Amino acid sequence: MSELFAQAQALTQQRFGRVMQLFAPLYISNECVDLCDYCGFSFSNQIARKTLSVAEVQAEAAYLKKQGFQHLLLVSGEDPKAVSPDYLAQVLAGLRGDFSSLALEVAPFETEIYQRLKEHGLDRVVVYQETYDREAYARVHRAGPKRNYARRLEAPERAARAGIRQIGMGILLGLSDWRQDATALIEHVKILKKRYWQTEWTVSFPRLRPCASGYNPPHLITDEEYKELIATTRIALPDVGIVLSTRESPELRDELLELGVTQMSAGSCTNPGGYSLASESTEQFEIADHRDPATVAAAIMKKGLEPVWKDWESIL
Ligand code: SF4
Repeated sequence: MSELFAQAQALTQQRFGRVMQLFAPLYISNECVDLCDYCGFSFSNQIARKTLSVAEVQAEAAYLKKQGFQHLLLVSGEDPKAVSPDYLAQVLAGLRGDFSSLALEVAPFETEIYQRLKEHGLDRVVVYQETYDREAYARVHRAGPKRNYARRLEAPERAARAGIRQIGMGILLGLSDWRQDATALIEHVKILKKRYWQTEWTVSFPRLRPCASGYNPPHLITDEEYKELIATTRIALPDVGIVLSTRESPELRDELLELGVTQMSAGSCTNPGGYSLASESTEQFEIADHRDPATVAAAIMKKGLEPVWKDWESIL
């Protein structure tokens, strides 16, 4: 195993240098019309729901900017009324002058809508397939638009066609066999990379965490297997960024710093208004790394890496 890790580490340094890009998720809504068994925002859960106004999003963003963040990931449930393209266009337009990169992890859209949102400052789209196992997919996505496997599968390509600069793909670990899912994800990225070579691609492997739905993941993955997954992905996709969230523990995140990960979130809240608005909305899941951004940045430097708050300026 140490040879695998050494190879992954060397490749990461060679292709990406000794840097770690930091970003913050900003939850703008937890309203959702989908019924996904594993998610705290699932339609059937009796939780406190909230969609932030444009002014509230700006207040949350201002809080994150003070912490040093220049890259924001705006996250929401899928609700075509509450989180419409018009609303998202207003949110993006209100933030674009203050941040160097704005990403969306929301419902998947058609190419024309991605194009329109790009005009308002969108430069990164995140859309995870969750699992490539069609039976498992159908089992956990019980109702709502997300139940449509094919429409979701084609979303990264629709975003690429719209000229979105960077697209994030991923699988949710716990739903199905992680080795088969990772293999399918890697193949999917390889196909899209060949077709859309000007697009930057990233992958992520969020692990299911406790949430309001009380879902018990049928396919657990150990920390050792998680490290193996990151290292083998680096070797299979040497030029593709790997994104790590605060779902993982501080200890594991620190270990993964040199193993292939290139971007990580820090100091995350997973409920709308959670940073600065004393919101009573319910979170999507419990995070495992509760360190503030400055502490995460210090841990990155301790490993001899440079924390990067800004590596892209969309205005250019
Ligand atoms: S996973 Fe996404 S679509 Fe499904 S319930 Fe959660 S927020 Fe809604």
